[in-house]
Amino acid sequence: MSKIDTLCVQAGYEPKNGEPRVVPIVQSTTYAYDTAAGLADLFDLKADGYFYTRLANPTVSALENKLCALDGGSCAIACASGMSATLLAVLNVCNAGDNIVSARAIYGGTYNLFSITLKKYGIECRFFDPDDTEESIDKLVDDKTKVIFAETLANPTIVVLDFDKIARIAKRHSVLFMVDNTLVTPALFRPLEWGANIVLYSSSKYLDGHAVALGGLIVDGGNFDYTKTNRYEEFLVPDESYHGLVYSTLGKTAFGVKCRVQMMRDMGAIMSPQNAFLTNLGMETLALRMEKHSENAKKVAKFLSENDKVEWVKHPSLESDPYYALAQKYLPDGMGGMMSFGVKGGSERAASFMEKLKMIKIVTHVADARSCVLHPASTTHRQLSKADLEAIGIADNLIRLSVGIENADDIIEDIKQALESL
Ligand code: PLP
Repeated sequence: MSKIDTLCVQAGYEPKNGEPRVVPIVQSTTYAYDTAAGLADLFDLKADGYFYTRLANPTVSALENKLCALDGGSCAIACASGMSATLLAVLNVCNAGDNIVSARAIYGGTYNLFSITLKKYGIECRFFDPDDTEESIDKLVDDKTKVIFAETLANPTIVVLDFDKIARIAKRHSVLFMVDNTLVTPALFRPLEWGANIVLYSSSKYLDGHAVALGGLIVDGGNFDYTKTNRYEEFLVPDESYHGLVYSTLGKTAFGVKCRVQMMRDMGAIMSPQNAFLTNLGMETLALRMEKHSENAKKVAKFLSENDKVEWVKHPSLESDPYYALAQKYLPDGMGGMMSFGVKGGSERAASFMEKLKMIKIVTHVADARSCVLHPASTTHRQLSKADLEAIGIADNLIRLSVGIENADDIIEDIKQALESL
């Protein structure tokens, strides 16, 4: 069992004789033990098992194991949201005085976390433009850099990351390369195969796929040797808060175990069993859905690029798109359903186009089965200054379109009538 579509359905849960065929929802905060010594062994990581749902839960584990199998990682941790996954992963290695080197073209919430919130705690973020030269990005890294961060396909600017370029920089400096793979998912791209060390997801998007469950996941690639550098001292010395455990001795699961027993223990942002169940169910059709999202988006992008009321379209399936070549290299199986475009006439016309849509709704969400639109400059990215918006490539007429899995003709028909009514 190694093919992505099979793993989407089968991985992560194997019922034993007489157990439920479908992953059950274990709605319990705690677990009963016969002896104190048995429970103590769990605390000491001498035995596997569950003792408190803030650290682990069987329904949540099934989801973690499925995603881990899809990405080819060593372990995974499910969090309450995509934002908490990013926060926990970053705090797992960054302390006050450290810095992150991040692509500027990233989700607005992550940009805010890095540029404003983490700064208050003494963690600096140095942003680069994904198109910057390798040399100039390389110069941002110093001995306090703990993470190089980027999105595979940036939300909402649809920039395709030049993976090899960033992976080379991370490797040269022995810095963790952390990638948010939300908008393509492991069905279309597996970052660990291209040099990433940690993969992050907002599972609220395509993994759930139906807009019913908020969540996020961290996948440990298990491919970073913390003993070969002195950049991550915390992995090499005993953790006083966890019985003197030295995380690097755990080998491939060092990052993941530290994140769970230290970060999750102290911050408590675990995914709920109910949301893990729903996300797991959604993921059974992930491969099928990503194929259909990708096919539909290609057709919609072509239609938009040929319409004279549309000023510009960003989708890497278009040969005219600056990221076409990178998408051919990294995303040959599909590019998902996300695109952005600008209606001629600026922000007001963009708003009136969106209001004229019938089937396609205006929602603060992307990447579920239903097509939807959003105007980032006035909503998800409104906390950013005009200069910041320009810097990350968000024009005032930019409409983010998330193409769903309806019939492509119906999606195009709705867009066509809205454009014609302008
Ligand atoms: N990463 C990306 C690429 C996103 O698009 C989002 C949300 O839109 C997040 C992270 C944050 O995820 P969540 O909304 O689940 O906290």
